[in-house]
Amino acid sequence: MRIHTHLIQRGKTFAPSTPSWAEISLKALQHNFLELKRLAGDAEVLPVVKANAYGHGLVPVSKALVGAGAKALAVATVREGVTLRNAVVTCPILVLTPTLPAEIPTLLQYCLTPQVSSVEGARELAKVAKQMKVSRVPIHLKLDTGMGRVGVRVERAVREFDAIRRMPGIRVDAVYTHLATADWLDPKYAWKQITLFKQALDGFRKISGGKTFQSHMANSAALLAYYPQSAGTWVRPGLALYGVYPNQNLRSKAKLIPVMQVKTRIIHLKALDKGQSVSYGRTYTAKKPIKVATLSLGYADGVQRVLSNKAHFLVRGKRVPVIGRVCMDMTLIDVSKVPGVKLGDIATFFGRDGKTVLSVNEQATLAGTISYELLCAVGERVPRIYV
Ligand SMILES: *Cc1c(COP(=O)(O)O)cnc(C)c1O
Repeated sequence: MRIHTHLIQRGKTFAPSTPSWAEISLKALQHNFLELKRLAGDAEVLPVVKANAYGHGLVPVSKALVGAGAKALAVATVREGVTLRNAVVTCPILVLTPTLPAEIPTLLQYCLTPQVSSVEGARELAKVAKQMKVSRVPIHLKLDTGMGRVGVRVERAVREFDAIRRMPGIRVDAVYTHLATADWLDPKYAWKQITLFKQALDGFRKISGGKTFQSHMANSAALLAYYPQSAGTWVRPGLALYGVYPNQNLRSKAKLIPVMQVKTRIIHLKALDKGQSVSYGRTYTAKKPIKVATLSLGYADGVQRVLSNKAHFLVRGKRVPVIGRVCMDMTLIDVSKVPGVKLGDIATFFGRDGKTVLSVNEQATLAGTISYELLCAVGERVPRIYV
């Protein structure tokens, strides 16, 4: 992991040579991890680092989490798991989506822990394990208690669990489920899922002679809203680790610090007369003379095009509006009200500028989406700078 300490001037402002960057605070990440661990009581935190750690960088984030005490990690795909193994991350790594038969050999070779969502899936796994002479594959059995996505349907869970646990080469290490509405104010459906999950666990215990299983169901929202009922042996937060609340009503439950800030610079400044337009399609026309700044950040970098004429940026601590269409590589803002604005000034897409904060949640709301999507959308060409 490269720590760009040479980019830090007197410990606070950055002067990277690239026009755009994502500043990622591993200290904030570790703080959030410990805060969630405190909240989780006896349950261990299984950090979710899928999708390039929600855009924050899979390997540096995973190493920082292991450094803070994480005992296992969860990814979405076999490929992500392989990337971690190649970076010498040695803890158990759970793959949260079903593995296609073609990827099972890689999964086993890299000692990744598969989720299993069906009897057929388990059978396929047992078959390949036998061919590869892997004696016992630990699995996390996924139950569908109402998410309707993957997992063994809860109505048939006990029977299918019984078939799977008897398969040679398979060892059920844990059982888990996923809640569909943990971030809702109305708790009815979440309670239903939590109850169904606990009933299934009881059923499993009965038919396996009192044996208890590791379990997990809590994503960030469930950990914040339904602790302790949602805590099993593990809790499985993603978003909250990155310092973002899944729902603003949950702010009081834990003190989280945003990990990522996305910043760019003014690469061009000009005055526009009344009646002149900016960008593709002429969706913005100046109603009076204005000062326009061009930013080196576009939709390829994560400023979604739906944010045209909608989003804000922070410049010199002031909130300024995006004008005209967001382009692939550039975005235009109206800086008429920013005294002293000059070429090279920093513009913050989300993060802090002096005392002013613009959150990823606010931008997501303006874009008609959720913070998750904006974080994942931060483009590959935006260098991540770890502090
Ligand atoms: C992504 C994911 C999580 C993490 O969810 P957050 O809302 O980010 O906390 C947990 N479990 C599963 C199965 C997931 O796919």
